[in-house]
Amino acid sequence: MNRAESSPGSDELNFVDDNGSDDDAKPLCWRLFIVDDEPDVHRATTFALNGVHILGRPIEFLHAYSAQEAIEILKAETGIAIILLDVVMEREDAGLNLVKTIRGDLKLLDVRIILRTGQPGYAPEIETIHDYDINDYKTKSELTRTKLYATVTAAVRAYEQIRALDDLAYYDRLSNLPNRNRFITLIDDHLRQDDSHNHVMAILDIDDFSEVNDALGHQQGDRLLQAVAQRMKTSLPDDVVVARIGSDTFGLMGTVNAIDPSLLLGLFRLPFVVLNDSMMVTATIGMVRLSDVKGSGQDAIKDANIALKRAKKTRRGSFVHFSVEMGIEIRERVRLLQNLRCAVDTDRLFVVYQPQISLRTGQVVGMEALLRWRTDDGSFVSPDRFIPLAETSGLIIAIGDWVLRVACHELIQLHALGLSTVRMSVNVSQIQFRHPHYIERLKLALTDTGIDPQYLELEITESVAMEDPAFMLETLASIKELGISVAIDDFGTGYSSLSHLRQLPVDRLKIDRAFVNELNSPILGGHIAAMVVELGRNLNMTVIAEGIEEESQAEILRAMGCHEGQGFLYGRPMPVADLNQWLRARGALS
Ligand code: C2E
Ligand code: MG
Ligand code: MG
Repeated sequence: MNRAESSPGSDELNFVDDNGSDDDAKPLCWRLFIVDDEPDVHRATTFALNGVHILGRPIEFLHAYSAQEAIEILKAETGIAIILLDVVMEREDAGLNLVKTIRGDLKLLDVRIILRTGQPGYAPEIETIHDYDINDYKTKSELTRTKLYATVTAAVRAYEQIRALDDLAYYDRLSNLPNRNRFITLIDDHLRQDDSHNHVMAILDIDDFSEVNDALGHQQGDRLLQAVAQRMKTSLPDDVVVARIGSDTFGLMGTVNAIDPSLLLGLFRLPFVVLNDSMMVTATIGMVRLSDVKGSGQDAIKDANIALKRAKKTRRGSFVHFSVEMGIEIRERVRLLQNLRCAVDTDRLFVVYQPQISLRTGQVVGMEALLRWRTDDGSFVSPDRFIPLAETSGLIIAIGDWVLRVACHELIQLHALGLSTVRMSVNVSQIQFRHPHYIERLKLALTDTGIDPQYLELEITESVAMEDPAFMLETLASIKELGISVAIDDFGTGYSSLSHLRQLPVDRLKIDRAFVNELNSPILGGHIAAMVVELGRNLNMTVIAEGIEEESQAEILRAMGCHEGQGFLYGRPMPVADLNQWLRARGALS
């Protein structure tokens, strides 16, 4: 497309209330380009159209005397509406070749082309006229004022219509800025050029825009967007492309110097005055160097979006530069997530059980159900990697439900084998926990599997237990009502408020592995472990230590008064068959 990029036709943003077209935005004259190797034709044409107005505007003439010269001018000039093109110039096919260049290489699709030839009877093929979007075909004898006027007027009309359609397709009506489609094309253009090394692309997202919309109404929201668009347009250098690529996101492209993120964020330091309101908003930015982009404009937007998400996560009102590693990481995650979905469908997930032992009697008192994923090639993906993925994707709801049911079935098996007081611990993710139907799902699992709820325990991590006290109290109360017990996992790693902990209906504290680990360390000693044991005993909770690997650790914990233990010292997490063997070897099963 051949035009200045700032806004449809004008450098100044002109906000009209009804968003309708305003005459100021149109070019002030029609640019008509005469390409002909005969100077006489140039003279005759300008003479015939001299002083003529078409649709209220005069004509400005441009001249070229060869195809080569024409190409140079077309590369340099913008806004040419019509080309009057001589078919035969330095060569028989010079004119038609030029048409191919205009449409194909230069991608000037708007400009209207009128072919002219000196020899009557010569006419291009119908297909050529169609394929290269040629508007008209005239012999040079038809150079009279009236005939030319009619031909050019028809072409100007066609040009106007095409431009109007382009505007709809490529410009955002609200802000008068290029839209997402257009922005992508512009990035594509840049990526093809060699100067992409010092160019960057940024996505700027207005923070909490939906709240402005909800609070003040859409009209006010629209005006705010317009004001933001205008401020960016007027504050940034002319050669920076500003586009609106989403409801509250803008795309920016320009040189590294022009698109300085702190400068951009600085534009939001003063309030935006909209009608009589003065509004403060902040924005967050994700950026990418065009030289880092592998692929097209679409990919550039994807990369900048990855950076934007990072920035939002860290802090609103900040910016993040995309790095190639980020892209690799994201793609890796996406691949892993796809595989995880597959694994769920193809039963690649299974549950293993790790025994929990009474430190006093040495008896098996419980099992912790732990999820495993074995991939097609037989290797394992650690839960520390795939659980977070299952959480962000929401898959954890279905997976967690499944683990719970499998663990309940195993509990029934263990009880049937004679371990009648053994309990089963199941880890619950906070995503499950916060699901509005969590308690219902839990009830359903209890009735479906028919277990005695007093032998079921749910493990929630300390950080989950400590957030949103009112919600936690209520949910934990509902769980207790069902007769299920609750343990706080990884205790000591979060920031527990003692007063909050005191209120929570919790049965057990699990000392985090890290504190068990440091029991043998002369410097760190077992201070935290000792504190947790003390705390648990004071609050009438059982304390269990996880990650016990050595007898000496068990020894110390026992001396501290810790009730129970779990770890490789006693048994690794095991599939059912191994577990039964383990139980038999310990004499817990006959
Ligand atoms: P967690 O609940 O704290 O589980 C204890 C982790 O410590 C397990 O890792 C277990 O294999 C490991 N472990 C046990 N004893 C020892 C030991 O003596 N030494 C060492 N070095 N490690 C020991 P795993 O199975 O890799 O699970 C990691 C985490 O993934 C779990 O931590 C839990 O937060 C999560 N997870 C596992 N299964 C599930 C599940 O079904 N649902 C949810 N929501 N999370 C799960
Ligand atoms: Mg656990
Ligand atoms: Mg743990």
